[in-house]
Amino acid sequence: MSTETSTPDAISPIRLARRATQVPPSATAALDAQAKALIARGVDVINLTSGEPAFPTVEPAAQAALDAIATDFTRYTPAAGILELRSAAANFINRHGTTYEPGQVVITAGAKQALHYAFTTLIEPGDEILIPAPYWVSYPHLAALAGGTLVPVQPAPDAGLKVTADQLRAAVTDRTRVLLLNNPANPSGVVYGRTELAALVQVAIDHDLAIISDEICDHWVFGESAHVSVAALSPEAAERTLTIGGVSKTFAMTGWRIGWVAAPTPVAAAITAIQSHTASAPSSISQKAALGALTADLTTELEYRRSELDDRRLTTIKALANVPGIRVDGDPTGAFFLLADVSGAYGRTSAGRTITSAADFAELLLAEANVAVVPGADFAAPHHARISYTVPPHRLEEALARIAAFVDGLGRASGRI
Ligand code: PLP
Repeated sequence: MSTETSTPDAISPIRLARRATQVPPSATAALDAQAKALIARGVDVINLTSGEPAFPTVEPAAQAALDAIATDFTRYTPAAGILELRSAAANFINRHGTTYEPGQVVITAGAKQALHYAFTTLIEPGDEILIPAPYWVSYPHLAALAGGTLVPVQPAPDAGLKVTADQLRAAVTDRTRVLLLNNPANPSGVVYGRTELAALVQVAIDHDLAIISDEICDHWVFGESAHVSVAALSPEAAERTLTIGGVSKTFAMTGWRIGWVAAPTPVAAAITAIQSHTASAPSSISQKAALGALTADLTTELEYRRSELDDRRLTTIKALANVPGIRVDGDPTGAFFLLADVSGAYGRTSAGRTITSAADFAELLLAEANVAVVPGADFAAPHHARISYTVPPHRLEEALARIAAFVDGLGRASGRI
């Protein structure tokens, strides 16, 4: 990954603060940008790096935004967001069995900003944040900006990319302050079930940790899996949990930048105060758009989209099962990603280069087969590539055929295999 931003600019007299030099650009955004640059040059790249479902924004959201502009709903809103939206968001979150009041919900510019506020509000310099690996790329940097350190807990080999409560417990130190959970998980697509989740949450209860529960992909669960909200597990879980979510993924509204954090009242109040001095509030127009999405009856549309993505998920799993050297890891029944272990291709060659890492694999796959995937190093999954299966079916099938042909065409480095 580029480290350009982490070295002082030789021609600028401005000295960056240490915290600014320690935050690299997002690896997923970098690869996405690389793929888009090739596409702009006319190369037929199929981009499987994206972190968003390839559907249009739901129609009631777009209409509500137009109405907001037409009626000049274009001023500052209350810092925590407009009450109708906080109320609609609380209802939406509570479909999983939680009992949040509108006053406990703070509307933010995307789930990412909600996470930033959550870290800022909870973390003191030197604090440790426990997280099951593999994990989403932004977490370590969000933690570092708040002065904290992410402590990843790796799943055991062949444990389906899931960690156990015992593993978490063994990683707790006297600096541990937060357990960060992300279910359904990005990048692996695995979904922790009720019993598994309750066991992890018990570790936080036993060690008096706060829980940040990133549930941004709560709509995208497939097959037998069901979403379980951490704060719905028990009153003991709810009183220590900050639930993160938003409209980005469910309603295909990633560009509107509306997310939220739902939390015990004093935490919500502290976050509101921080937001009032930083963002003031999220965009008034986007808040109306989100309200449009949350208050329309979109059951049929959302179910259709879910079954579409489920088809694409199954197509991907089936196709990759027939590619020797690539192994889908865990049981990806959530989000819209999966992790493929590509270490079976190590030692093989393409364009005169020997593949020795998932980064080599991804680079050569893009250069030689015009398919973009994200290498897993920044997700703490160094031998995996993350595949996002949200692209339309004919493009997905073409991409999977290209991956199979790429792997089939790999040479053998002399003396290696
Ligand atoms: N959390 C996870 C796990 C994500 O994958 C993402 C987006 O990729 C976010 C949070 C951020 O969501 P938003 O676009 O609402 O900021």
